[in-house]
Amino acid sequence: MAIATVNPATGETLQTFEAYDEDEVAERIARAYETFRAYRGTGFAQRAEWMRAAADLLDAEADHIAATMTTEMGKTLVSARAEATKCAAAMRFYADHAAGFLADEPGDAAAVGAGRAYTRYQPLGVVLAVMPWNFPLWQVVRFAAPALMAGNVGLLKHASNVPQTALYLGNLFTRAGFPAGCFQTLLIGSKQVEAVLRDHRVVAATLTGSEPAGRSVAAIAGDEIKKTVLELGGSDAYVVMPSADLDAAAATAVTARVQNNGQSCIAAKRFIVHTDVYDDFAARFVTRMKALRTGDPMAESTDIGPLATEQGRDDVEELVADAVGRGATVLAGGVSPDRKGWWYPPTVVADVTPDMKLYHEEVFGPVAALYRAADLDDAIRIANATGFGLGSNAWTTDPVERDRFVDELEAGAVFVNGMTTSYPQLPFGGVKRSGYGRELSAHGIREFCNVKTVWIA
Ligand code: NDP
Repeated sequence: MAIATVNPATGETLQTFEAYDEDEVAERIARAYETFRAYRGTGFAQRAEWMRAAADLLDAEADHIAATMTTEMGKTLVSARAEATKCAAAMRFYADHAAGFLADEPGDAAAVGAGRAYTRYQPLGVVLAVMPWNFPLWQVVRFAAPALMAGNVGLLKHASNVPQTALYLGNLFTRAGFPAGCFQTLLIGSKQVEAVLRDHRVVAATLTGSEPAGRSVAAIAGDEIKKTVLELGGSDAYVVMPSADLDAAAATAVTARVQNNGQSCIAAKRFIVHTDVYDDFAARFVTRMKALRTGDPMAESTDIGPLATEQGRDDVEELVADAVGRGATVLAGGVSPDRKGWWYPPTVVADVTPDMKLYHEEVFGPVAALYRAADLDDAIRIANATGFGLGSNAWTTDPVERDRFVDELEAGAVFVNGMTTSYPQLPFGGVKRSGYGRELSAHGIREFCNVKTVWIA
């Protein structure tokens, strides 16, 4: 994929970029490595001061970077601004809490025959971040803020369709005061990732993106015995039971499905509704999906903009066509409009069966699949009948049902009577083919630390 800004609303190529050559990449790795040796000795207070300065810059420049994101990948300007604000808040969260999360932890010295025993968290070194375009700031910041606060340094290989956002991030931390080399962007294609990952000075990697990308990076890192965190796709369940507030469930279902033009790993994608309320829920949901305003992502009144890439739009079209060809029913949308750019309408598909790709694959666009569940057991069975396990939702006011969902849904998170969202305060990550490791909270900052056991006689 060429490294370029292509406006998905029009399909127009606005700017192309040369990938860095081998020498340029080597220079940046060397700079990262040298920087780490000194940077790891800085204290939390100093890092926090720089991190808060980065947050202030981001807040001050939110309009500018939001417009860049909207131009590069089509999210609405309103949501892009909110993303910038969320990033600044996460930076401040780690500025405030990193020292506490990484403080020495006393162990039971007497039990191990020591005078003193404790755990110390130390930074690992240069970490490579391979990141996607869907939340081009947030995906990066939720890695960068804890990593930098822990004393690691970062190299960012961002998605090829968001180079201007990548370059902005490459400068942001240095402008805030962090030493040059703490956080650098590598403008490289995915084929250049292997050489970076195999460099002995790069000690770990984090990747958010598709399964094939995750598998490739994890295989190379495994070969090199390097730690990875993977945050891959999701096809999360959104279960609605008869006791739920149906109107609230339908309203939230729409947001949960179409946020970010439907391109979110934690978006609810499979709506599993108890048969007693299926028709009622479906009617409310379809009405709301049809009422969404699709259009210019720069306009404040727009709910849904274009999909980020032509390939992404084609993938969505193909999944819906496959389902319809095998007997699914389209209740809303389902046909791409005849206009320039990569548009796809809010779509609801019912009667989805296991012989359809839509049953098994992640649909990365505003397409909801509706399933009818006979009872609680059936709802849980359908919810877990997927290779993914990221962030499930369940709507019920029955405490027994609630506890069964919490216990039995196979996912990295369960949100009850609300939609899955990432918060700096809570761990974020998946099970099954959604990946492993955790981002955010205390868990996230410790992923790229040496958990060092100290035993002193
Ligand atoms: P990719 O996984 O291809 O892209 C994510 C990042 O990985 C990009 O930086 C990409 O670089 C890089 N990458 C891709 N292949 C490799 C590789 N073999 N080795 C190293 N790095 C690689 O996602 P797509 O944009 O192609 O989207 C495809 C599907 O992935 C979506 O439809 C969705 O299902 C899923 N996805 C999930 C996301 C999530 O949030 N979990 C985010 C984005 C996608 P480059 O851009 O240069 O190819």
